Amino acid sequence: MTTQISAEQRTTININPSTGEELARIPCATQDEVLHAVAVARKAQPAWAALGFDARAQCLLRVAERSENPDVIEHLANLVTAEMGKPLADARREAAGTSGNIRRLAASCAEALAESTTYEDHEAATITREPLGVVAAITPWNFPLGMTREVITPALLAGNTVVFKPSEIVPLSGAALYELFEAELPKGVISLVQGDESTGKALVSSSVDMVGFVGSVEAGRHIMSACGADLKRMVLELGGKDPMIVCADADLEKAASFAVRESMRNTGQVCCSVERIYVEQEIVEPFTDLVVEKTKELLVGDGKEDVFMGPMASKNQLQNVLGQIEDARSKGARVLLGGGSKEGPGWFMQPTVVTDVADDMDLMRRETFGPVATIRTVDSADEAVLLANESEFGLGASVWTGDVKRGRMLAARLESGQVGVNHGLGGAGDTPWAGAKQSGFGFLGSPDGYRQFTRPRSIFWTEEPA
Ligand code: NAD
Repeated sequence: MTTQISAEQRTTININPSTGEELARIPCATQDEVLHAVAVARKAQPAWAALGFDARAQCLLRVAERSENPDVIEHLANLVTAEMGKPLADARREAAGTSGNIRRLAASCAEALAESTTYEDHEAATITREPLGVVAAITPWNFPLGMTREVITPALLAGNTVVFKPSEIVPLSGAALYELFEAELPKGVISLVQGDESTGKALVSSSVDMVGFVGSVEAGRHIMSACGADLKRMVLELGGKDPMIVCADADLEKAASFAVRESMRNTGQVCCSVERIYVEQEIVEPFTDLVVEKTKELLVGDGKEDVFMGPMASKNQLQNVLGQIEDARSKGARVLLGGGSKEGPGWFMQPTVVTDVADDMDLMRRETFGPVATIRTVDSADEAVLLANESEFGLGASVWTGDVKRGRMLAARLESGQVGVNHGLGGAGDTPWAGAKQSGFGFLGSPDGYRQFTRPRSIFWTEEPA
């Protein structure tokens, strides 16, 4: 069954969230344009696959080189800041990360996707990693460059061609990243379609062979059921409601700094933001005081200025966060700091600290995706683990304690794909960016992640006697 885009010509309006000014009107791809992009990608795929891994990697390394140009970094960073409000320094880091990311993926995929042969006496089996065909890359706005390259780079290295649909909130950043890739790839290997949810639905239900998706659980559920119709492959990297557990023996200064940074970074619009903070009763007062104190220090403003936090990326996002806070307040939660939007143009939200929350409040159950540190007192670390696991999400988590061994034992009981002990997510090695429960299906990162853009083929043979 295919999902058709409505016949009327639609545009998305691109707004600067710091000023409310219109940046651009972007025509959404029509049904024919989506199908045409897929057909072009289909036609280009056999030759791209036939080039072999090394030649494909060379093309992508040229994209990496191109992306190192300071003017390119500045251009990309300015677009990201204008479109979704990220502070320019953070946007520059995201843009500058493109080349290192592509180089790292090229080296990792060379190993992960290499042919291997095993022998038993004279019997041999060779396993190759075959591309799937055409991959639809559908990505969100919160890291418009970072998340997109994590999908399209391994897809391309594996010998697939790509049809890329950026989020309707960041169409210009998406187009600029696309142009960087397109300039160094054979014609048709990557195509761009602009548009919103309807465009994404049409792309998913087209004849693509795989959907590489990063976005919300709600959209992920829809994509999974749409892919079921013809058993398309998919990788879905979805939302989170990450718990942070602070034990009584934790270094409070470090834990509070982490809580504030990871609740507020990118205006809280990070899939692995700290969204629930469970604190042992003995230390809840000094910990909360530290969180409030540190949150007060955060500078909020237009991303073009030297600020820690820009605006919310859209009016919808702002209303969603304000709605969750109001709901919590009306049910007895205490807002210790912030809690409202800022006067004036733009969609600015005050950095907020909430306590005295109940476990059934939206603020504790649904993804907030805003600058809110939500503190819940617990009697023990055991109770914290129990409550942390009472969630449909399972992306990340962290445990803070003076005893790393105990921290690792608590971490092992958490139903999350990734857990930091006195640490954020990531660190040593090339690890899977994997969510448990409804935070994802399949995953990006790590050799196992890259292989999801391929199917294995085994060829069996008997060695000729010498
Ligand atoms: P979203 O799901 O609304 O949209 C993501 C993309 O999918 C956009 O391009 C959108 O146009 C498209 N889309 C929406 N519904 C669709 C559908 N039914 N079929 C096909 N395409 C569809 O998400 P968002 O608001 O752009 O991004 C925020 C969400 O992304 C949060 O939930 C966040 O946690 C998640 N996220 C997850 C990760 C991760 O690695 N797990 C990383 C970044 C963001």
